[in-house]
Amino acid sequence: MKLGQARHWVFDMDGTLTLAVHDFAYIRRALDIAPDEDILRHLAELPEAEAAPKRAWLLAHERELAHAAQPAPGARELLAYLQAKGCQLGVLTRNAHELALVTLRVVGLGDYFSSDDILGRDEAEPKPAPGGLLRLAERWQVAPTHLVMVGDFRHDLMCARAAGAASVLVNTPENHWPELADHYARDCQALLRQLAQP
Ligand SMILES: [Mg+2]
Repeated sequence: MKLGQARHWVFDMDGTLTLAVHDFAYIRRALDIAPDEDILRHLAELPEAEAAPKRAWLLAHERELAHAAQPAPGARELLAYLQAKGCQLGVLTRNAHELALVTLRVVGLGDYFSSDDILGRDEAEPKPAPGGLLRLAERWQVAPTHLVMVGDFRHDLMCARAAGAASVLVNTPENHWPELADHYARDCQALLRQLAQP
């Protein structure tokens, strides 16, 4: 699929629509999680009594980050362009749904997404699992192959691949994962330039 023809766009939030601020090494240290372990999977596998306070800490920490969030370069222009073309827009984040709403409002991107099209870690199995994309495809009544997933990390690309969607890597100085990324743009601004090319 040519990107310019895509009508169904799903965005990662943190580090894609916003400037990356999560210090995952700090979070792992604070929650006593090994450096190479997936944070959400680790919490999901803990006994509930141990997991609950850690999940609460994570939510409180991410709430602080949400209130200080800043938009990524070109994110607003890209969303405005896609919206004006009548595209369907969604968010698939490993953050919590309520904090996604806060974050998007703080950075001035809240109006581009309906709340039901924002899936957080409690609405879908966290990326790299493809469940969130499959769910949005079903909601939008399109084949998953018609979706484009835009993200700044391997998880986003793996999620797209597993769902059969196209992927775009943004906000990295170079294409770190050429075997996983179907497309690459330095940032949302550059992606918009690619799309707007006649
Ligand atoms: Mg991200």
